[in-house]
Amino acid sequence: MKKLFILFIILISCNTDVNEQQWQKGNLHTHSFWSDGDDFPEMIIDWYKKNDYQFIALSDHNTIADGVYWYKIKQSDIENKTLKKYQERFNDWVESKSDSLGTYVRLKTFEEYKSKLEELNKFVIIRSEEVTSSFENKPVHINVTNIQEKINPFKGNSVYEVMQKTIDAVNKQKEKYNIPLFAHINHPNFGYGINVEDLKKLKGEKFFEVYNGHPAVRNEGDETHIDLETMWDLINISYYDNNKPLLLGIATDDSHNYHKKSTNLSNTGRGWVMVNTNMIETVSLIESMESGDFYSSSGIYLNKVINDKEKLKIEIEPKEGVSYEIVFYGYRKEGFQVEELKRVNGHSGEYIFNENDLFVRAKINSDEIKKNPYVKGETTQAWTQPIIVNN
Ligand SMILES: [Zn+2]
Ligand SMILES: [Zn+2]
Repeated sequence: MKKLFILFIILISCNTDVNEQQWQKGNLHTHSFWSDGDDFPEMIIDWYKKNDYQFIALSDHNTIADGVYWYKIKQSDIENKTLKKYQERFNDWVESKSDSLGTYVRLKTFEEYKSKLEELNKFVIIRSEEVTSSFENKPVHINVTNIQEKINPFKGNSVYEVMQKTIDAVNKQKEKYNIPLFAHINHPNFGYGINVEDLKKLKGEKFFEVYNGHPAVRNEGDETHIDLETMWDLINISYYDNNKPLLLGIATDDSHNYHKKSTNLSNTGRGWVMVNTNMIETVSLIESMESGDFYSSSGIYLNKVINDKEKLKIEIEPKEGVSYEIVFYGYRKEGFQVEELKRVNGHSGEYIFNENDLFVRAKINSDEIKKNPYVKGETTQAWTQPIIVNN
């Protein structure tokens, strides 16, 4: 009887694991005073904590927020009352000094702000750097999530070479420390720096930004440049055909401006990832992302993303008065492009795989206009990760 009871308990807990997805919300692309953001790290982290995120990475340009840095208060900081707000919130924790040249504040290092604001099983702060390089004025920006040692920007003979050198350095660091960490390619259409052919050639790269909330990044391309979703599919056709792991799509804020809200500014809350894990800690979060167990969003929440080898099923957490459509896209045998497989209007939808499907992903659209969009008229969206169909 006792054995039966234990078996029953095991069955119940297994069942819970399979059916209950626990989504942890996070933003992996953020800037502070350590580079060109306009606020102190703790103030930024505090915003994400208060707005129901479970993890954050401050990814400043070419720094991992260590060493002694006395930041000089600028005129714009005085106008924004940045130091005043920081002092009111953090009191004696703030270290400032003044001389005849101005006021200086010592920026807290990663270790300091992490120990101050991280909360066990509730809120995680992951170390990051936006490795910021370029080739002939084309920006090449790559975030490294859970970085352990600073990576300096690389020079090279092409955009591809700069990217590959950065990714090789990230993978070398991953081996050295034997912990999960990953690179993600930022905003390929920013300055139209990175094109689809560059990305197709990469080896050892698993993530890129399919959505970035900075107003200058042109996620949707223009008359002569493709949008990032089309780019994503083209890369994955190439990766699939060449037996490389599929590229996964991340949504981020790339926030820099924390005092005023405007479509012309890069504000918080525009793009994020929802990672399925019941453990709010760095290793679990990263491992879930590496296995593709997450979706990206610019405003839509999903209750379930079920891939049970026979179908891909999506259940939306609907907002009142908002209409949704779920579109399934796939790459199929004998196909030469990713095509629309099925379109469903409503709060849930599923696509049953068939023998010709190679990989499938879902995109969720809505008619909900964003309150503080990165581009005028923007509606909320969500993207699930492409999954390989094993026939
Ligand atoms: Zn960037
Ligand atoms: Zn950035």
